[in-house]
Amino acid sequence: MQVSVPKHIVPLDNILPEEPLLMMGAGPVPVPARVAAANAIVINHLGDTMSQVIEQVKAMSRYVFQTEKGQILGVAGPGSAAMEMAVANLVVPGSKVLSVINGFFSGRLAEMAQRLGADVTRLEVAEGQAAQAEEVERYLRLHRPQVLTIVQGETSNTICNKHLQAIARIAREYDCLVIVDAVCTLSTMPLEMDAWGIDAVITGGQKGLSCIPGISLVAFSERAWQHISARTDTLRHWCLDAKLADKFWYQKSYHYTAPVSGILAIHEALRLICIETLESRFERHLRCSLALQAGLESMGLKLFVAPSSRLNSVVGIEVPNGIEGKQLLSYMSQRYRVEISGSFGANIVRIGQMGEQCRSHNLFRTLHALGSSLRALGSDVDVPAGVAALEATLDKFEFPPASPRQIA
Ligand SMILES: *Cc1c(COP(=O)(O)O)cnc(C)c1O
Repeated sequence: MQVSVPKHIVPLDNILPEEPLLMMGAGPVPVPARVAAANAIVINHLGDTMSQVIEQVKAMSRYVFQTEKGQILGVAGPGSAAMEMAVANLVVPGSKVLSVINGFFSGRLAEMAQRLGADVTRLEVAEGQAAQAEEVERYLRLHRPQVLTIVQGETSNTICNKHLQAIARIAREYDCLVIVDAVCTLSTMPLEMDAWGIDAVITGGQKGLSCIPGISLVAFSERAWQHISARTDTLRHWCLDAKLADKFWYQKSYHYTAPVSGILAIHEALRLICIETLESRFERHLRCSLALQAGLESMGLKLFVAPSSRLNSVVGIEVPNGIEGKQLLSYMSQRYRVEISGSFGANIVRIGQMGEQCRSHNLFRTLHALGSSLRALGSDVDVPAGVAALEATLDKFEFPPASPRQIA
């Protein structure tokens, strides 16, 4: 044999930290124990057990996406694969697409449409702002696109498109299909697919759902599904062809070997959401994020986005002058075992508030770690004032009704 066994390979235990780091960045996020346990199981990808799991995943997804009749499909792949599945199935090459762009991820949707050979118009929203419905309407009137793409929460720069509902309604008046990327927001804040008239909603496992990376979901509206069924051209993406995926998700047959462990994990993530209920979950996310924001500001830090456009699911924080984001992150990680995220451009750091990140004990630890690290690096932040504001704001909200009931 020409290629020999590699030297210097050590067991994972020698690489991973003894105690897992607290993952408080923009994803992946910590997973509940039941999700982790489900992810360790392998079952047959076809057959009765799997089909029962799939039926439940679809039923629970319809609740989480808030759609009675939406077509739910799973994807073996990152959130980006789900984005590409929505785009590839709804965008016909040569057709017109309007992409509302707030940052990195909404830009990715435009790029995907472009690669499919669509005629893409980019509505670049002013920095630090949510998209305005009037401006989107102006573009719709002018360009008459068949498909509109938009993010609910732009994780990259922590902008929230707060007028999404109005934008989706207007797009419908222009007979335009609406694709919404809700990777970081689904189940962390309201999104009502049917009531808001959205045609495709995308989510990934590792953010709002507090599941593992590598398994994602797409929901298509009835209108979107009619459009897909009526297409006569052959899709360029074989793996992402919704009609082929339908064979597995609705006809108990083979498309590709499903990521069985990932599907079991997402089953558990969805089940925990159903037990908690969306109302309580939204309340928990809001309470935790607002308390974190109050803590950060009381410490003397500046948040990156004004409240009118601010995302709660991921909080962006300006790094004080004289400190470099990278240096701050590595200090926090090494000294306090807390991981938060940097950014793709601006000198900001980001703290996630998705799923298991929204627990008060995680907030105290994270705020303390951030504040103490900043102090160690020479910044004059008031850590006790921050922690006091965190506590006071958490207390202002009523506690949600007990912790999720455990199912026997
Ligand atoms: C993370 C993220 C994505 C991409 O998800 P991957 O799993 O990294 O492909 C897309 N959109 C938004 C809003 C995200 O936060």
